[in-house]
Amino acid sequence: MAKPTVVVTRAIPRDAIDVLAGACTVDENGSDAAYTPAELLAHARDADALVTLLTDRVDDALLAACPRLKVVANVAVGYDNIDVAAATRRGVVVTNTPGVLTDATADFAWALLLAVVRRVVEADAYVRAGRFTEWKMLELLGGDLAGRTLGIAGFGRIGQAMARRGRAFGMNVLFTNRRRVSGALEDELGARAVDTATLCASSDVLSLHLPLTAETRHFVGATEFATMKPTAYLINTARGPIVDEAALVDALRSGAIAGAGLDVFEREPVVHPALLTMSNVVLAPHIGSATVATRTKMALIAAANVLAVLEGGAAPNPVR
Ligand code: NAP
Repeated sequence: MAKPTVVVTRAIPRDAIDVLAGACTVDENGSDAAYTPAELLAHARDADALVTLLTDRVDDALLAACPRLKVVANVAVGYDNIDVAAATRRGVVVTNTPGVLTDATADFAWALLLAVVRRVVEADAYVRAGRFTEWKMLELLGGDLAGRTLGIAGFGRIGQAMARRGRAFGMNVLFTNRRRVSGALEDELGARAVDTATLCASSDVLSLHLPLTAETRHFVGATEFATMKPTAYLINTARGPIVDEAALVDALRSGAIAGAGLDVFEREPVVHPALLTMSNVVLAPHIGSATVATRTKMALIAAANVLAVLEGGAAPNPVR
């Protein structure tokens, strides 16, 4: 019997390709350049499985053109790039990679937080430019964390990991979440649930950890910025469109908030040009989960999801 075909849309860690190749014919885009939609369609047309990255748009039209397809394994925890409802209607299983990137992503959110609050990138540029000619009392002053309030929007795996980091830095932790979180978990993490308005108004640092859905698009916009403290910072390592980027630029320009740390953008890879000019903004190219071990684990989980479905079993990480 012919082996099933798995299309891997982008270079992923070799270990996962080796696992797939043991049972499948792998049609691998070994390059780090994304397929165009036409290239994706051409490769996916006869595929039994797709291993996708968050930049691959898997919509109903693509699914309709791939009659053999049984599983789309996204190498990410977020899956807003996939029309899950359309896939489910067509009997195609969609999977993600939850859990293994929680700490790496929270670490990176914390790195952005420290970088913007303590002006690390500005300080680095200052030294490299030869401006460190003498120590000065009033140079590059930043904000404090201990005793301040960390607001977390989306209290799932990464949101809770942020709460742990916040407590370790002596911060008070508030959060908002769709589902009610148990009192025991609140007690364990020393975090208190509030509504979104209270979260925005009370936070010294507001960090976003929501999935991108129709409901969370522009979760933070002009209305929310208007209620935030002028000394507050926004950290976004979730998804760009959760923040109204034009409103963020206005808020930074007007001093409605003090700064931002951004790993994700509304129209990736395009970054609002004004953000590139602002010294109170720290920018990163969507690298929240980018550690060697984490990316390897993510790819191996995607491969395990593919093989489980192709072998007729249940995928370990289905999304609905
Ligand atoms: P998770 O465990 O599913 O947590 C998401 C949380 O958001 C859940 O607790 C969920 O509530 C809550 N939520 C959903 N919609 C909401 C709403 N409208 N209002 C308030 N809360 C809402 O996911 P995770 O593993 O923490 O990942 C979170 C997101 O981070 C991912 O979806 C992904 O987009 C992003 N991410 C980015 C990177 C990066 O590289 N920058 C890396 C990893 C993840 P329920 O309890 O009701 O479901």
